[in-house]
Amino acid sequence: MQLLIDEVQLWDGTGSPAQPKLSVEVRDGRIHWIGSASQWQGNRATVRVVDGRARTLIPGLMDCHVHYSSPGGPEWIARFTDPLPEISMRAIELAETSLRSGVTTARDVGAPYGVSIRLARAARAGEIRAPNIRAAGTWIAHRGTYVSFARLFEETDELRNAIKTEIESGADLIKVALAGWNEGVRPQDAPDIPFDKKLLTVAVEEAHKAGFKIACHANDPTSCRIAAHAGVDSLEHGMFLEAQDLEAMAKNKTYLVPTMSVWDAMLYYARAIDWPEARKKRAEDLRQGSRAAVTAAVKVGVKIALGTDAGGGAARHGRIAREAELMVECGMEPRHALIAATSSAAALIGESERGTIEEGKIADLVLLDANPLENIGALRLIVDVFQEGRRVA
Ligand SMILES: [Zn+2]
Repeated sequence: MQLLIDEVQLWDGTGSPAQPKLSVEVRDGRIHWIGSASQWQGNRATVRVVDGRARTLIPGLMDCHVHYSSPGGPEWIARFTDPLPEISMRAIELAETSLRSGVTTARDVGAPYGVSIRLARAARAGEIRAPNIRAAGTWIAHRGTYVSFARLFEETDELRNAIKTEIESGADLIKVALAGWNEGVRPQDAPDIPFDKKLLTVAVEEAHKAGFKIACHANDPTSCRIAAHAGVDSLEHGMFLEAQDLEAMAKNKTYLVPTMSVWDAMLYYARAIDWPEARKKRAEDLRQGSRAAVTAAVKVGVKIALGTDAGGGAARHGRIAREAELMVECGMEPRHALIAATSSAAALIGESERGTIEEGKIADLVLLDANPLENIGALRLIVDVFQEGRRVA
């Protein structure tokens, strides 16, 4: 199969400026040739030609933090405990919604029953219309904290076993959740955060020994501190990161996946549904904290990869453009927000054949009717989405 995207403005994701009037030839799912439209040697009558005039071509977007098992919205936590048939069916639908918004690769960082792993396999086999999915099975958390349907442990051996079980179940990465005790279950004299530095070191060691990346949910000041210094591959959320934490992350090459969409959506529901004052205040504080952390992280030079946490919080699927907009609002240049959503995300996920538009790479592409380098909101103006060279939306 041969495809020519003709006379397009190309932003290739490497950090170079966009180039006008290029043509991109795709053969057998990969980028075969890139050059000026006038220099293409083939016969336009014999290939599928897509008119690129007045359009911008960018690499397929990557969302490093989604949960296709939940739809998000105001009652996102309750949705995680819906019956399994419900969760499975909608995971398929939501993955397609995500693909249609330009997301050709996603990390699903946790689902009940390990639905994410089954979903990733179905996507890989071409059975469903979905992004290329890298799945964590379920969250690994200390017993008595976080959600009850995570894989729970108390002692070091149990933690090592939990990681081995995830890997044996087919997970592509490990996801751990640092969190405080759930209401009323904290034992006397126990620390605020039982999944502490020592346990996290064990988790990082165990994951890396097996050649797996480890993503760490850190949603409160203590967890942010512990996670920033532990050498995890990515710190998810990070609304309470302070200067010394960000310096440690820059030194450890730990990516920040800020998931600002969640707090943005949460505040919307807090106001629209008239939540109690305390909850509204919490939404405002989290939103503010997350924006401050991103602004500071950019200054310190922490690597940033885009993640929406669609499904895992109030944020809904198919709205990756909003996260990129929020990044720009926090002081990132549009091209840096786009890098966070393409080549930087690819580096975090370990997708060396994706994330940029270069000869030889997999042809995951998004064609837009405007230039997102000028206005990041252009990410909503999708003309076509190509996955391995096939038009899928
Ligand atoms: Zn999440």
